[in-house]
Amino acid sequence: MPLAGNAELLRWMFSFTRPVKGLIVLACLWLSLWVGTEVLATRASGEAITQIQKVQISRAAVPAFSKWIMGAEGGAGDLRRVVYMLTLLILATVVLRYLKEVSNMKMSMEMVYYIREAVYDKLQRVGFAFHDTISTGQLINRALTDLQNVRAFVNSAVLLTLEIGLVVGGYILLLMTRSTWVAVLSLVPLPLWTWYILRFSKKVQPAIQAVMTADDKNVSIITENIAGVHVVKAFATQGHETDKYNAHADYFLDRVLFRIRMFANFAPFMRLIAISSNLSLFMLASIFILLGKLQAGDIIILGGAMNAILGRLQQVSVINEQYQSAIVSARRLHEVLSARPTVPVKESARPLPEGPGGVTFDHVTFGYDPSRPVLKDVSFSVPGGQIVAIVGPTGAGKSTMVQLLGRFYDPQEGRILVDGVDIADVALDSIRTQVAYVFQETYLFSDTVEANIAYGRPHILNSKVLSEDGSPDSESLAMASGEVEAASRLAQAHEFVEQLPKGYQTMLGERGSSLSGGQKQRLAIARAIISNPRILVLDDATAAIDSQTEEMIRKGMKFVMRGRTTFVIAHRISTVKQADLVLVIENGQITQSGTHNQLMEQRGHYQQIAAAQLYGDIEVEDQPSHMKRVQREVAKAEVAAGSRERGQTGENG
Ligand code: ATP
Repeated sequence: MPLAGNAELLRWMFSFTRPVKGLIVLACLWLSLWVGTEVLATRASGEAITQIQKVQISRAAVPAFSKWIMGAEGGAGDLRRVVYMLTLLILATVVLRYLKEVSNMKMSMEMVYYIREAVYDKLQRVGFAFHDTISTGQLINRALTDLQNVRAFVNSAVLLTLEIGLVVGGYILLLMTRSTWVAVLSLVPLPLWTWYILRFSKKVQPAIQAVMTADDKNVSIITENIAGVHVVKAFATQGHETDKYNAHADYFLDRVLFRIRMFANFAPFMRLIAISSNLSLFMLASIFILLGKLQAGDIIILGGAMNAILGRLQQVSVINEQYQSAIVSARRLHEVLSARPTVPVKESARPLPEGPGGVTFDHVTFGYDPSRPVLKDVSFSVPGGQIVAIVGPTGAGKSTMVQLLGRFYDPQEGRILVDGVDIADVALDSIRTQVAYVFQETYLFSDTVEANIAYGRPHILNSKVLSEDGSPDSESLAMASGEVEAASRLAQAHEFVEQLPKGYQTMLGERGSSLSGGQKQRLAIARAIISNPRILVLDDATAAIDSQTEEMIRKGMKFVMRGRTTFVIAHRISTVKQADLVLVIENGQITQSGTHNQLMEQRGHYQQIAAAQLYGDIEVEDQPSHMKRVQREVAKAEVAAGSRERGQTGENG
């Protein structure tokens, strides 16, 4: 739920201080002691001047100063005492300031850690629909810049505010011990400052929001460009990309300069108030000295106090700047942290009960945008252990259909059952560990081949470090390696992995960039196999693999597919032929279903695509053109279907 009000956002930001409460108390304690000693040190400086003034009267002592200062003559004892006190206070100020800084930094870093952990954890949990709406660049920016803005503000708001309060309060008290009038008059600029800051806050927030949105776009352009570097280079569009970035960088700079100008106009006004009140107070103090109501040392105290007060009050503009940025950042961060799960898990959710992996789609309707359904009233049922091939034109909804099976999205209407249980009623983890995917685009992590294959079951590798004496447990290590290798062999990956420089311990480049498309795909298949899922989904998984390797994988997969339901989205008829059930999806609806042979006998999309591909399996002597071969196969299939229909009509008639 979005937090609209600034007060709500403030409360929310301060909730991050909960885990570091102890450190905050400690930092506040050092800070209070430090400010206390600083005020006392200023007072001691004033007193030292007053004492020196008295000492100057006794001129006789000047020639033997060191002897005189250690004696008790002419006020030397008083001066000595005040100098000792001043030295002690200055030393204490230095030490306390150091202690305050250390606990402040520690608190700051721990707070970043907790917020970052919360953001990262949330990003792991939000649904796909969330990622569909917020770009990678925006998310990266929120997880880095926005988080720092919130941290910086919370930090200053707690410590700097306390420091300002204590310094202003402490020095006003000190001034009051000298002259109530001076103390009261030093407060005159405060209401003026408050009014000006509040007025400024309203104006500056839209400017800060504009900078952040422009920065999001900046990061998006950079991340997309880096991710798509191969496309950029292949199309030689570096120049165009640079222009695109430069244009946006100019826009970003404009927004930043506008914001800087706003703050730059704000600060001098604050300084003007500070300097004029400082000057008036000094003039007043001089008059009081002439009238004998203040002593010369008091001017040092007044000078020190006014410098400290106005110096700290100028920090209000720093807090204000941080506050304005933090409010905008907090709103963006809150959007991420409060994002509702797009696939809610019921409190009564339980693990998916054991079963063979039977799948039922019961009148399922789904659209990424609910007003534009991608799947319309889809119903089918598959007993466990079967191979289901899904075919259909591009954009028909094939991938969407299998994604619903793992609850990446929830349908707007209808139910999906696995072994008779509605997947909306079971724990999300239990369904996701039971449905393993091999996607068309393989994502591998910058890790070893072994870790990538064991990704779904990291504990089999972690068990290496979990052995009792802390040393690698050779038995579990061998078992883990055995499982990884077995999966790799089945996916026909073992052979090429063995040839990598360090075999299964070879580190892969980012996204597996050091491997070919087919090799990446084979590792992805091994990764799916090792998690021993009840349902296996191959979403165009063998598209990047040559037909010979595909055939080998298919043979190997026969063992893996045994005992589990497999959904295959494929375009190669050779893959589809082995399915127990073929579902043809067109425009979000199942238009045909049956076995390959049954569908070959029906007019329709399947017959067309099958015919178009079958020429590849036929030895053709006269090498006709591609189109002619396709047309010939379609014509043959149509003739066959026509004669069957006539036969049936004849029989019926
Ligand atoms: P292909 O064979 O090309 O992979 P497909 O049959 O698997 O296609 P889907 O990927 O399921 O098709 O897409 C079905 C429709 O849903 C398409 O119109 C597509 O543009 C749309 N679509 C897919 N993913 C999203 C998404 N994340 N957000 C919005 N629309 C989407």
